[in-house]
Amino acid sequence: MITSVSIDKREILKHYQKIAVDTHKGIQGHALIIGGSYGKIGAVCLSSKAALKTGCGLVTAFVPKCGYEIVQTFIPEVMVLTDVKKKCISNINFDFKPNAIGIGPGIGQDELTQKAFLKFLKTNETPLVIDADGLNILSQNKTWFLLLQPKTILTPHPKELERLIGKWNSEEEKFEKTISFSLQYHVIVVMKGAPTHIIDGETVYKNATGNPALATAGSGDVLTGIITSFLAQGYESVQAAILGVFLHGLTADIAVPKTGFQSFIASDIIENLGEAFL
Ligand code: AMP
Ligand code: MG
Repeated sequence: MITSVSIDKREILKHYQKIAVDTHKGIQGHALIIGGSYGKIGAVCLSSKAALKTGCGLVTAFVPKCGYEIVQTFIPEVMVLTDVKKKCISNINFDFKPNAIGIGPGIGQDELTQKAFLKFLKTNETPLVIDADGLNILSQNKTWFLLLQPKTILTPHPKELERLIGKWNSEEEKFEKTISFSLQYHVIVVMKGAPTHIIDGETVYKNATGNPALATAGSGDVLTGIITSFLAQGYESVQAAILGVFLHGLTADIAVPKTGFQSFIASDIIENLGEAFL
């Protein structure tokens, strides 16, 4: 039986926990953002900055070598690890234990990257968000869905969703197929759109925030960083998804009366996170 829940302020306050006064960065969660390729390092910059601005204590970005100076310059608070390859990720390798990982922003679909991504999925046990080309690589072979750990969060926009679940003929069918997918693979699907729905098996959450200003380059990369940050802070997967989607939309609702729809860009989501939290 399908349960529908509206993600409004009342629902959010059931899940949101205030930060403890005696916390420190070491227990506030360490997020790892894996992504980027030549010409698409900005996606990791946005995702990593959004993760920090959502409250996790530490963020590390894993990027191809060409991304090293770009990420460090864009956001000095983020630590950077690099792949051996210059232009794409070929071997995901790190020697610490992050509390959550977000993978996919700007990662591209180079053959080496595809292999590295699948190798990573086979061994990863850390709470995970998969976005963008991470989803597109995953969609190429349905048997790869079996590699997903329970409660993995997938954040497809409509085209990425179609690659995951196949075409639909009606809104009803889209929901049916996404619910079946979520049940079959025990994953949480953030169906991005206007509005965004979060599917956790037969529970369907409908987000109440957001507006067309969010239809802008990098918007989804920022969302990935926000959700990964909440995961790293110890929220359950579905809570991290709900909180992230609500907060992401709220930034646009706060900003648009000041900026209008057209001039709002993904960096403005990050800039308005503070006000959204308040
Ligand atoms: P992406 O396509 O991956 O960059 O993600 C776009 C993000 O912006 C998702 O979180 C969408 O839900 C959101 N978004 C895009 N267009 C709209 C819209 N017209 N109204 C509300 N949210 C939107
Ligand atoms: Mg995207």
